[in-house]
Amino acid sequence: VVLAVRGVIQGVGFRPFVAREARRRSLCGSVRNARGSVEIEVQGASDTIDDFVTALRTAPPPLEIHRIEAREVGEQAEHGFRIAPSTTGEPVEPSLPADLAPCVECAREVHDAEDRRYRYPFTTCVRCGPRYTIVEALPYDRERTSMRHFAPCELCRAEYGDASDRRCHAEAIACPTCGPVLEFLDARGITLARADAALSAAAATLREGRILALKGLGGFQLLVRAADTTGVAELRLRKRRAEKPFAIMFPGIEALERVASPSEAEAALLLSPEAPIVLVARREAAAALGAAVAPANPRLGAMLPSTPLHALLLAELGEPVVCTSGNMSSEPLCTDLAEALERLAGLADRFLTHDRPIVRPMDDSVARVSCAGVELLRRARGYAPKPVARVGDDRVILALGAQQKSTVSLVQRGRLLLTQHLGDLGHPAALCLLERTVEDLLVFFAATPELVACDKNPDYASTRLAERLAERFAVPLVRVQHHAAHVAAACAEHALAGPVLGLAWDGTGLGDDGTIWGSESLVLDGALVTRAAHLAPIPLLGGDRAAREPWRSALGALWLLGEEVFERRAGAWLSASDLRVVRRALERGLNVVPCTSIGRLFDAVAALLGIRDRCGFEGQAAMELEYLAETSQEDGAYALPLSESDPRVADTASLLRSVLEDLDRGSARALIARRFHGALAAHACDVAQAVGLERVVLSGGCFQNGLLARSVRGRLEDLGFRLHTAQGVPCNDGGISVGQALMASRCEVPGTRHGSEAMRAD
Ligand code: ZN
Ligand code: ZN
Ligand code: FE
Repeated sequence: VVLAVRGVIQGVGFRPFVAREARRRSLCGSVRNARGSVEIEVQGASDTIDDFVTALRTAPPPLEIHRIEAREVGEQAEHGFRIAPSTTGEPVEPSLPADLAPCVECAREVHDAEDRRYRYPFTTCVRCGPRYTIVEALPYDRERTSMRHFAPCELCRAEYGDASDRRCHAEAIACPTCGPVLEFLDARGITLARADAALSAAAATLREGRILALKGLGGFQLLVRAADTTGVAELRLRKRRAEKPFAIMFPGIEALERVASPSEAEAALLLSPEAPIVLVARREAAAALGAAVAPANPRLGAMLPSTPLHALLLAELGEPVVCTSGNMSSEPLCTDLAEALERLAGLADRFLTHDRPIVRPMDDSVARVSCAGVELLRRARGYAPKPVARVGDDRVILALGAQQKSTVSLVQRGRLLLTQHLGDLGHPAALCLLERTVEDLLVFFAATPELVACDKNPDYASTRLAERLAERFAVPLVRVQHHAAHVAAACAEHALAGPVLGLAWDGTGLGDDGTIWGSESLVLDGALVTRAAHLAPIPLLGGDRAAREPWRSALGALWLLGEEVFERRAGAWLSASDLRVVRRALERGLNVVPCTSIGRLFDAVAALLGIRDRCGFEGQAAMELEYLAETSQEDGAYALPLSESDPRVADTASLLRSVLEDLDRGSARALIARRFHGALAAHACDVAQAVGLERVVLSGGCFQNGLLARSVRGRLEDLGFRLHTAQGVPCNDGGISVGQALMASRCEVPGTRHGSEAMRAD
């Protein structure tokens, strides 16, 4: 019998596992990596083979079996069971695992003075270590990874060939004798120390208060002691990142528990092989961390060492460090030393690097645990490029995503694969990375797109690239409305094929009518999208600048309440002469766009409450409004009725009027913030009841607001609705490409084969 096994099974010890199970049952045959599957040939009694197949189906994690197909072949003379060389050719179904944090045994070995891999930062085995960041092509074998530059020594070779060894067929196998070597450099690139001495020198440089650039798994990171207030402030200054929270890497979970209180689920996620940054509640008296780490934030982005290199460095240092991407704000990661020395000049004092090339850049993933489970806010290391959904379509579809939090999705052989987070496309280097990622994806998975999808916004760099790609491959381009894509992303993840109500609440997306949307209630039914409800728009001044300048949203909100209110309050932000200019602009609608965005409404309310009128980073005002609302002891909700003249439009003005009345009355701002959140949750209920579909999907960047997500979900569930949220796919614009791919698969596009609509989640 020949078995073709599909799943996330290459490079995670599947072949040795198969060989062990076969030999245990005295079956003869072989196992080999093919491009999109693993092929097993077995001979023996049919019940024994059945039993063997059952054992494969229940393979332990990190193995993920998706499908096993069997076909009968003639008996061949085989003795014993062997691991055969890989075959190449044929287009593939994505089957490569992501990069995994050190397993318990590898972690133990590097701290064991008796072990030959003691303090060796590139220790891995079949269960852990780098994968996607070192693979150049499939199938996953050493000669197609960046480890091909290192010839294994005798001892490593023996382990690799020993079926009883944990490193049997570990493609990235290495040791201090034969593997990559560390190097410690000054800012000019002059080597100060090598190998183990480099590790100690790097720890010492951090202890002295310097900023260290470290070549991590997927790119350079900048490290500084978290307790060092001056050092953290210096890093903020150099990185031009004034207030955005930094992630902290702790030497171990105990060190984290001294400053934060992770729940059991959060601790499990931190300790998982994916090892993402997890948002955890900060303890009141977290004095061990400088206040500058995450100003005015009750949560902390915490992570544990994700490679042996990080583990060794932090163990030697013995305290947490700020660990942030090695770049200026908004630029992509640096992956090689020459580039890092140039681009990080002035940012880092010292460099800790090594000679294992990084094939593709990979940021740290960011996750949180909510009542729905694990939710990824940034999907990268540990997760990419695992498939996120199945799509009932055998066409190859390429979706280019949004402008911010860029990602690319590829549908091939019915599986939807999502790339790692690529960043915001505003920077020319980020656009380059997007182009490179698309090429890499197409070559890596031997894919030729039959359909390209993008946003409806013609100004997105991703849209322009999609236009070029559609032309190059001479295939149709499907433009998917931003909020439909948000909803569809969650539908793809949860395999929701029938009609759903989707609440797509976010900052900005271009609507079908050319205005800015962002409070959309959409009904998705196949390729059909109906706008069921939204908030009445506020006039938004200055377009994109509004996201950084909440006072602009506040002026729009005041204008909605009439001239008298506007005159009385707008002076808070404008001089008399500026006020006249703005008035004229609003009257004539010059440089003004109607905007239904809930993100901008958060900004408006934050500015009206005097919380913040300018943001250091996107979403800052909204975050502060959320944290303030969480401190309120009282609950409540302002009225946000659907209007009588058009029941699809909610009365934003009435909500804003209530906010201002409470403010004038001297109500606590925390309570006002709370009632504002309550109004939106009540609006969700009004819409869901009016639409009457049982399934409701929550998607869009506003649902990163934990309080909002919890209250909307809770209230809708109380009413009997079944809720689905984006989880493995980010609810923010990082998920847009997934939704575009699904919507494109639902489109009847002339000139292409049509896929059937039958989906199943993994
Ligand atoms: Zn391991
Ligand atoms: Zn070796
Ligand atoms: Fe969005």
